[in-house]
Amino acid sequence: MMPLIDIGANLTHESFRADFDAVLARARDAGVERIVVTGASAAGSRAALALARAHPDYLHATAGVHPHHAIDYDDATDALLRELVAAPEVVAVGETGLDYHRNHSPHAAQVEAFERQLAIAADCGKPLFLHQRDAHADFLSCIDRWRARIGRAVVHCFTGERDELLACLDRDLHIGITGWICDERRGAHLRDLVGLIPADRLMIETDAPYLLPRDLVPKPSHRRNEPMYLAHVCAAVAAARGEPVEVTAATTRATAHAFFGLG
Ligand SMILES: [Zn+2]
Repeated sequence: MMPLIDIGANLTHESFRADFDAVLARARDAGVERIVVTGASAAGSRAALALARAHPDYLHATAGVHPHHAIDYDDATDALLRELVAAPEVVAVGETGLDYHRNHSPHAAQVEAFERQLAIAADCGKPLFLHQRDAHADFLSCIDRWRARIGRAVVHCFTGERDELLACLDRDLHIGITGWICDERRGAHLRDLVGLIPADRLMIETDAPYLLPRDLVPKPSHRRNEPMYLAHVCAAVAAARGEPVEVTAATTRATAHAFFGLG
């Protein structure tokens, strides 16, 4: 069994409420050694920390506000995030960033919430868990304004093109790859790109319950993704990089340990 680390799973999602322990048991059986639970809102970040505290040495948490919820980001949110990131179970600031694909919040609100969370990372010294969709130019502007003050940062669920990947690597950002790479319609380009990512910058994630790999055989009857499918993502990344899956498993694990400072 190859130990793997899922750096992004939305385990506070309501779809996991009924069978949470079984989901964790299946993940362990599939070799998932640690899971970083994504915090994507004020309430969600609080819940992620509670999960991490209930499952020490298995679950870790991030604390942040997703760009979809940027319109709700106020001084109370900022104070709460600053309190949460002080907890040892919280290993990163985020999910934060920009999403101009769905535009659930206006661009100006997204940029402001993003910059306030970049400031939190600069102040607390923890790594950043970043989201970017259809907002590459503005995202890079924010990163460039803060790069000297922040430390490690991962662009989670990277789905962009070659120039976007190179721009991220130029800025010394880490890259998270999900089962998007298994999608023959919209993820095929990633198979040509993942080989460009140095092993010490590459990590893998499921983004569960979203992004169920499209090429799973047999297809589960439900559409819910789970951390147990991380080995499937790892195999797809290994095939695209042209390396043995054991190598991808070991290097992404080592990179995640170093990135998040896991014990
Ligand atoms: Zn995201």
